[in-house]
Amino acid sequence: MNPPRSVLITGGNRGIGRAIAEAFLAEGDHVAVTTRSGGVPTGALELKADVTDPVALDAAFAAAEEAHGPVEVLVANAGITADTLLLRMSDDDWSSVIDTNLTGSFRLARRAAKSMMRQRRGRIIFISSVVGMLGSPGQVNYAASKAGLVGMARSLARELGPRSITANVVAPGYVETDMTAVLTDEQKAGIKSQVPLGRYADPAEVAGAVVWLASPASAYVTGAIIPVDGGLGMGH
Ligand code: NDP
Repeated sequence: MNPPRSVLITGGNRGIGRAIAEAFLAEGDHVAVTTRSGGVPTGALELKADVTDPVALDAAFAAAEEAHGPVEVLVANAGITADTLLLRMSDDDWSSVIDTNLTGSFRLARRAAKSMMRQRRGRIIFISSVVGMLGSPGQVNYAASKAGLVGMARSLARELGPRSITANVVAPGYVETDMTAVLTDEQKAGIKSQVPLGRYADPAEVAGAVVWLASPASAYVTGAIIPVDGGLGMGH
């Protein structure tokens, strides 16, 4: 059994983030979870913070560090969609998704890297999406934000690698959560028909890849995209 680590997960109260928080708790780690609406898993430290609010984010980090010590594993999971076709996409549809999914993750990584560099170790994990690499009609904003995470992770991998800090991306396919509950049955059936494994992912299956990326077993993996997509995006 490894000693417990200080883990911070954004959006760990629902969906994929919650499954990730539960998986780290099961490993015996010290888990801090940021949320806007509350309701984190039992055993996790609940921190109220909107990832688009730099002051709140900084305060959440400070509280996590005070309770658990310097953050050793950062999972930037919080994300939103605002889907619509290009010609109908407003500036607000664009900027709200970029601010939450990409700029929020940048702020988190910058804050976490400070103490990781001092410690000369750390794991940064971004939750992207298969859509970032494949593209998706009606998701120009979302796909751009998720592709941006890949460039960010790979730059961080180069910049922080000399300090033994890894930066990786997990790219889930379709997972049954509140985010995908808005899809029609027809849309769901269309997606499933393109997935070689013929089903949606369970959030715990995404969590498994994240826990592995934080484990000693993946110490030599950085700048990678780990797909958890049932084969949907094969090749990226
Ligand atoms: P959910 O909609 O179920 O949950 C979203 C989470 O993000 C919530 O915990 C929410 O917190 C948090 N969040 C959203 N906006 C903010 C914000 N501004 N500040 C702080 N927290 C915020 O989504 P999923 O679990 O499905 O998605 C999690 C991640 O996985 C996202 O990045 C998503 O893009 C990605 N993903 C999801 C896929 C899917 O099929 N579901 C596929 C591929 C990637 P709160 O409850 O407090 O609002």
